[in-house]
Amino acid sequence: PAPILAVVGRPNVGKSTLVNRLIGRRQAVVEDVPGVTRDRVPYDANWNGRRFTVVDTGGWEPDAKDRAAAIAAQAEAAIATADAVVFVVDATVGATDVDEAAVKMLRRSHKPVILVANKVDNAALENEAHGLWSLGLGEPHPISALHGRNSGDLLDLILAAL
Ligand code: GDP
Ligand code: MG
Repeated sequence: PAPILAVVGRPNVGKSTLVNRLIGRRQAVVEDVPGVTRDRVPYDANWNGRRFTVVDTGGWEPDAKDRAAAIAAQAEAAIATADAVVFVVDATVGATDVDEAAVKMLRRSHKPVILVANKVDNAALENEAHGLWSLGLGEPHPISALHGRNSGDLLDLILAAL
C-alpha cells in the first residue's frame, strides 16, 4: 500500500490549499471561513513516480467541544494512521498558543513531523518563517501553498520522510 502523509494544523493556515498543491489538482475544498474540512479525506498523489496518499484534515484545536472536538479527534486519528505528518503553520501570523498545543500533541504521536511555514508568498516573508524555530520541531520549511513557491522542495522532503 502507498505510504500515508497527514496534513494537520489549526484552522485556516492553508492545509487544504497545500493538499491541492501536493496532489497537483484542486480537489480539497479551500475556504476563507475556517472549519470546512470536517473529516479526514484521503487523496492519491504521485511525485517523481512514487505514489503516496495525502490526508487532508480539519482544523485542530485543543480542549475543543462538540463539533470542533469531533474535527480534532479526526485529525488525531489521521495522524495515528500516517507514516509522516506535515504540520502547517501560518508564517504571517507566527506561532500561536494553539500551534504550541498542537506541537505537544504531535510529540505524543511519535510520528516524523515536517514543519511547514505557509503563506510565505515572497522572499520578504522568509524572516517570519525563521521565527518558527521556536516551536522546537526543527527547521521550518517556508512555502506558499497558494503560489507553489518551494513546493517541489517540500515534495522531495516529504518523499524522503515517507
Ligand atoms: P485550511 O483551513 O487550513 O484548510 O486552509 P485553506 O486551505 O482553506 O485556506 C484558508 C485561506 O488561506 C484561504 O483563503 C486560502 O486562499 C489562504 N491561503 C492558503 N495558502 C496560502 C498561501 O500560501 N498564501 C496566502 N497568501 N494565502 C493562502
Ligand atoms: Mg481545509
